[in-house]
Amino acid sequence: MGYISVAIDGPSGAGKSTVARAAAAKLGYVYVDTGAMYRAIGLAVCRRGISGDDIAGIVATLPTVELAIRYQDGEQHILLCGEDVSEAIRTPEIAKYASQVSAVPEVRAFLLETQRNMAKNGNILMDGRDIGTVILPDAPVKIFLTASDEARAQRRYLELCEKGQQVTFDQVLHDIRQRDLQDSTRAVAPLRQADDAVLLDTSDISLEQSIEAVLRIIRERTEERK
Ligand code: C5P
Repeated sequence: MGYISVAIDGPSGAGKSTVARAAAAKLGYVYVDTGAMYRAIGLAVCRRGISGDDIAGIVATLPTVELAIRYQDGEQHILLCGEDVSEAIRTPEIAKYASQVSAVPEVRAFLLETQRNMAKNGNILMDGRDIGTVILPDAPVKIFLTASDEARAQRRYLELCEKGQQVTFDQVLHDIRQRDLQDSTRAVAPLRQADDAVLLDTSDISLEQSIEAVLRIIRERTEERK
């Protein structure tokens, strides 16, 4: 039997990365956070002083972008031209840049093979926006993880406050809605649930319950294959 790929897609703040990371650890799968790759490109663009809506500038930045993924104690680290930028990419500004660069077809093409190849080397759990629809359309397990706008904004707000970032709830809610709109209306690989994905709404369930639900879906789907 070949390797198993689990695709988890959904809007920002649905808890995808926390749930996916925990589920992957429990199953012994490699967790791949594809959002970090878009964020790293967003950071490269930002550092060059290029605006997020300057498509030609974004495309011109790509040849200078050298991305590498490393795993340390099971945690994914992302390196941009040799520098570990795993922390630097976690700001609202870079989230916005990530969303803007991710709408550029050349950026998506730049990451497509890298992401597909990661699924060839072992059992993986990959999270993003287009994993089940574009990157791994044949994945045996696909989950679309979502939650209401307010629930997602509340979680993101607490997360940013814990990191000491100065934000208001309304700002976070506004940013989340903007990103949803941008991610789901772009022409290339928009955020949408794959036809064969299981929908999981986490608005009213705890993190532990979400992890349990994801593990249950994975077990059911992989059992069916045997
Ligand atoms: O998941 P995260 O919030 O880190 O993703 C940052 C941005 O990268 C998203 O808002 C989305 O625009 C983009 N993205 C994407 N496709 C993916 C993963 C992320 O377009 N597979």
